[in-house]
Amino acid sequence: MKETIIEKVKQAGIVGAGGAGFPTHVKVNATVDTVLVNGASCEPLLMSDPYLLEQEIDTVIKGLKTVLDATGATEGIICLKGKHAKAMASVARAVEAETDPRIKMFELQDFYPAGDEHVLVNEVMGRTVPEAGLPLNVGAVVSNVESLYNIALAMADKPVTHRYLTVTGEIRNPMVVKVPVGALVSEVLDFAGGSLIENFRVVDGGPMMGRVLDTTDQPVTKTTSGLIVLPETHNVVAGKILDPKTIRRITTTVCCQCSQCTDLCPRNLLGHDLHPHKLMRLYATDMVPADARKEALLCSECGICEKFACPMGISPREVNAQIKRELAAEGIRWQASGKIPENNPFLTTRHIPTKRLMQRLDVTQYDTHPTFCQTEFLPSHVKLLLGQHIGAPAMPVVAVGDCVTAGNLVAEIPENALGARIHASITGVVTGVTKDAVTIKHQ
Ligand code: SF4
Ligand code: SF4
Repeated sequence: MKETIIEKVKQAGIVGAGGAGFPTHVKVNATVDTVLVNGASCEPLLMSDPYLLEQEIDTVIKGLKTVLDATGATEGIICLKGKHAKAMASVARAVEAETDPRIKMFELQDFYPAGDEHVLVNEVMGRTVPEAGLPLNVGAVVSNVESLYNIALAMADKPVTHRYLTVTGEIRNPMVVKVPVGALVSEVLDFAGGSLIENFRVVDGGPMMGRVLDTTDQPVTKTTSGLIVLPETHNVVAGKILDPKTIRRITTTVCCQCSQCTDLCPRNLLGHDLHPHKLMRLYATDMVPADARKEALLCSECGICEKFACPMGISPREVNAQIKRELAAEGIRWQASGKIPENNPFLTTRHIPTKRLMQRLDVTQYDTHPTFCQTEFLPSHVKLLLGQHIGAPAMPVVAVGDCVTAGNLVAEIPENALGARIHASITGVVTGVTKDAVTIKHQ
C-alpha cells in the first residue's frame, strides 16, 4: 500500500504547498508515529488554509488518512488556531464524527510563527527538533493543509492543476480564489477587481516571509499562497526591496547589541545555538571565525528579528540569509552535535501575538478575512515554470502546437532526480516550450 500511495503522489506532481516546494512523495516515504496537519495559517492575512479546513475538511481528512497509512503513524493531529472559528467548528464536527481513532485536533494559540515546523512540533508534541534537523528526526511528519487536499485528489488520479490563494491588501475585492497554476499575477489581480492604488507592489506569500515581485507579469506557482497588494512605500515592501549589500552594511554597522533579536528568536527559544546579535557583532568586524558563521544555518528566516524585535529597524534575517548562501556556495553544512536542545524557560512568554505583529507591520487594516470567490477564474493563458519546486527542473514532454487537456502531463521528473511533475492547468494549445517554462493558451 505504501508504494502505491507514494507512486500516486509522485504521479500527481504534489509539492509542499506551504513552503519551498519539497516533493511530497519523498516526504511521505517516511516511518513516523505522528502526522501533524499544519493549519496554523501562520502568516498574517493569508486565509486559504482556514477556508479549506472549513469547506473541504472531509477531503483534507481523506488525505491525512492516506499519509497515516503511508507512514504507519498512529496519530494524525489537525492543528489550527482558535481564532479561525468557522474552521475550528468544521474540524471539531468532523473529528467528533470520525470513527478512525487516529484523527485528532489541537488548538494553537494565536502567535507567530506557530506554523514553523519546529515550533509546531514543540507546541503540539513537546518534542524539540534538533538543530538543522527535520520533524522526521523526532518521529513526525508535518503536512500542509492544501498538500493533504491534493493527496486525497491524487488517490483518485487527479494531478495538481490549481492553487488556493488569498488576494488581499489594496485590492478592490479581497478574496480566497482557486487559480490554475501558471496564471499570471496581473490577471489574478484583474479578476479581483484590480488595485485600489496606482503605485503598488505585490508580495507573493505572507508579509513576513513572502517576496516582493519585480513585476506582475509572473506566474502563480504551486507554492504561491497569497498575493498582497501594498503601497510601494509600505513598511513590508521597503524592507524587502532594499539592495542586499546595503542591508548588510547598515545592519552590521547600526546594530546596538541590545540582543532583542536573540531574545525573541523562535529557534533560539527552542534551544538552538543561534544568536543573531552575536553574528551581527562579528560581522561588524572583519574577523569572523569560519566556524562562527555556521550559526546562520540555523536561521529559519522567519523575520521576527527584522520586523518585530529590532529597535533599530535593521535585518539580521537578511544577513543570515546571505551568510547561508555563502556557506552553501562553499559546500559548508551544519554538523549535527547530537545535543538535545533544551527549551528556553521563557519560551511561551516570548511568543509574538499575531495581532501585535500585524500592528507593527501596519497591515491590520487588510485583515478582512476574505471569503471564497465562487466564480471560476479562467486565465487567457498559463506559464508553467519547470523549476517551481526543490530539486531538478522538470523536462518538457510536449511541443509547440500540441493540444492539451487540463490534467495532462506537460513535464516529467528527470531520471533518478529529485523533482516534481508538471501538468496542464487549463485546456488549450501549447504556445511555448523553453528550458524554463511551458506556456499554454486557453482554447
Ligand atoms: S529570522 Fe531572525 S528571529 Fe527568525 S530564526 Fe532567523 S535569526 Fe531567529
Ligand atoms: S535587535 Fe537589532 S540592534 Fe539589537 S542586537 Fe539585534 S540586530 Fe542589533
